[in-house]
Amino acid sequence: MSGNNYAYATLLTSDSYLPGALVLASSLRAAFAQYPLIVLVTENSLSENALSALQRAYDRIVTVPLLRSSDAGNLELLGRTELDVTYTKLHVFNPQVTGADKVAFFDADAFATRNVDAIFDYVQGDVVFAAAPDIGWPDCFNSGVFVATPRADIFQGLVRAAASTGSFDGGDQGVLNDYFSGWASGVSRPGPSSSNHKTARLPFTYNVTPTSFYSYLPALKRFQDDISVVHFIGADKPWKGVRESDAFGGPEGPMQQFLTRWWNYYDAVKHVLNRPGNATRTHT
Ligand code: UDP
Ligand code: MN
Repeated sequence: MSGNNYAYATLLTSDSYLPGALVLASSLRAAFAQYPLIVLVTENSLSENALSALQRAYDRIVTVPLLRSSDAGNLELLGRTELDVTYTKLHVFNPQVTGADKVAFFDADAFATRNVDAIFDYVQGDVVFAAAPDIGWPDCFNSGVFVATPRADIFQGLVRAAASTGSFDGGDQGVLNDYFSGWASGVSRPGPSSSNHKTARLPFTYNVTPTSFYSYLPALKRFQDDISVVHFIGADKPWKGVRESDAFGGPEGPMQQFLTRWWNYYDAVKHVLNRPGNATRTHT
């Protein structure tokens, strides 16, 4: 066990993403993650059953206030009106939420294909944040996987930006990209919420998004052995029933292999969903 005060974190605002959160935890444990697994949940939004499943899978459950964007316009443009709760992810930057010096955040629809402890090395010295490119617009990072040093000033800056400027995509990814606007070029883009914090680029192998509309199959094959994290972005999550895909290489291709690995983890833990909730809790 390392002496570093680091943590892994995810966010769960609804039971609907619980299968993902359980698989993420299983995958990190199977890969011998060295740091505690923390799940951020919003108050009164999860069933007792879900909370007791999380209690078994995670080291800590931290309740945070729900932050909504209510930016229906931009989320409609993205076709994802359910994502207005993702501002809640900004709580990862609040040092009081995890108490950790560095936090590696993963969306609940991501899972690790091998040990990812080296992700924490991307935040060193002046660098406070690191993320991998978004395949839909590579000058933006994808906010489904990132590593950050929680700091009160950064958290306040982000919440202020979210409340005043809003988000160009309606979710956390737009706010974070405007705030860490120097991420792609090293030079901050002028804007009401852009900060001068130093950031770093994570390799794409830390956030491989095979479900996006375009994929570079030869590169996927070339770098397949280097992949650490697979992230099922978009509305079709594996737990909605997607077990088979002939996208990107057919039944023997990498997409099918990612899905099979996800389902192997899920099939091993899904029985906990049918257990009764914690008997010591009472409903009113
Ligand atoms: N999330 C959640 N419940 C919701 C919507 C989102 O718990 O109803 C959390 C979950 O951790 C999810 C993350 O917010 O992975 C971001 O949403 P999503 O992964 O669907 O966005 P995408 O990666 O597809 O852009
Ligand atoms: Mn996601």
